Amino acid sequence: MPELPEVEVTRRSVGGVQGARVLGLRLGKPLRWPLGVDPSRLAGLHVGEVGRRGKYLLLPLLDGPGAAPDAAPGVLLWHLGMSGSLAWWPLGRPLPEPGRHDHADLRTDAGTLRLTDPRRFGAVVWAPGPEAPPASRLLAGLGPEPFDPAWTAGDLLARLRARRAPIKPALLSGELVVGAGNIYASDALWEAGIDPRTPCTRIGPARATRLHAAVRQVLGEAIAAGGSTLRDFRNAHGEVGQYQGRRRVYGREGEPCARCGGAIRRIMQGQRATYFCPGCQRR
Ligand code: ZN
Repeated sequence: MPELPEVEVTRRSVGGVQGARVLGLRLGKPLRWPLGVDPSRLAGLHVGEVGRRGKYLLLPLLDGPGAAPDAAPGVLLWHLGMSGSLAWWPLGRPLPEPGRHDHADLRTDAGTLRLTDPRRFGAVVWAPGPEAPPASRLLAGLGPEPFDPAWTAGDLLARLRARRAPIKPALLSGELVVGAGNIYASDALWEAGIDPRTPCTRIGPARATRLHAAVRQVLGEAIAAGGSTLRDFRNAHGEVGQYQGRRRVYGREGEPCARCGGAIRRIMQGQRATYFCPGCQRR
């Protein structure tokens, strides 16, 4: 499943669409949510700087190439769901006919942005702006961004004190910080030396500081590595990620821990697999 690093890698690889003029939007089979606007209304708008919040890509569509980013008309939110990826086909590179898993083509005068999503949990949604519904509703419950300077170890500690859940599912919920999905939550907890079953309230200032640094380290490495390609993730240029080769514990049950040599264990927490080292991750 694309997690925050894969969405950020996608964002960095779709720069070619910035400044382009929209020619049209072709939709295939229904996605998780409806577009919410007549696609013909998007023609003639210009694409602003592509942003990201959590796992949503935000494509501002502006009246002109020089329009202020927060001026009308609005924003397209793209979500990759469970299996989605975006590909950028610059003008001059022949665009294949849409396949049966290609469910959205944003055609512009610079090329086409194509969403391929076999499981169709992804979406393309129009909103008059990031503060307006339905964008405001989709973005409202998200926790802090991991690389936002406002997200500090002290902020993490305050959020941990308000929760009794074990730390691993709490990380997955996105309320402590967004982006620590299943792979990266397991690896960050190993990096911080914290047992994934530890109740949040038992994590004190020293361990919160380690976890805060570990989340940034693991997510930063994953972005630099182009994300993780466990099954089908590709960036917008069709390139696979390399983080899977650098995983600390995720998916490595029975293999030796790089720190202590003990065997990595797999347990289930809230129906999700968790990997950790019982030797060097403490409750
Ligand atoms: Zn170990």
